[in-house]
Amino acid sequence: GDAWTGMPGSITERSFFAIKPDGLQRGLVGEVMSRFERKGWKLVGLKMLTPGRQLVERHYEEHADKDFFEKLLDYMCSGPVVAMVWEGHNVIAGGRKLLGATNPLEAGAGTIRGDLCTNAGRNLVHASDGPESARREIELWFSREETVQWGRATDP
Ligand code: GDP
Ligand code: MG
Repeated sequence: GDAWTGMPGSITERSFFAIKPDGLQRGLVGEVMSRFERKGWKLVGLKMLTPGRQLVERHYEEHADKDFFEKLLDYMCSGPVVAMVWEGHNVIAGGRKLLGATNPLEAGAGTIRGDLCTNAGRNLVHASDGPESARREIELWFSREETVQWGRATDP
């Protein structure tokens, strides 16, 4: 591992998240980011863009054969998203937990999807599902210069 993506389980573990177009449409960017901040994780990458089809195809390449793939591409390219890298202890598995299940009906109360949305096809936020996808997705969405290493005054 390296300092950029971090080692799984270490304090510098990093994961990729994206607030999907419905999150911006519904004005939930601050609400979502606030939950990550309150959890204690550190924001080390942040940008807003309307992703092109090619980027989303690569991002979701594991789903290329699914019947919902074209709909998923249309949805993800329908407007701006907020792409983020968060760093911290167990941020990969913990980030998935904070999101809740893919289908909001199965996402528990208290999770982002459980609390804030109803539709599996409009489920607000993406999170990497493991160390391999975290590394792959960070490298896909961010250049090295676009992630920021910084420390809190309280770290030492
Ligand atoms: P995630 O990792 O929890 O986001 O879920 P997956 O990797 O399984 O699926 C990726 C994304 O595809 C989900 O977040 C949904 O936006 C979408 N998706 C997954 N399953 C379905 C489905 O059955 N129907 C539709 N319309 N979208 C789906
Ligand atoms: Mg997934």
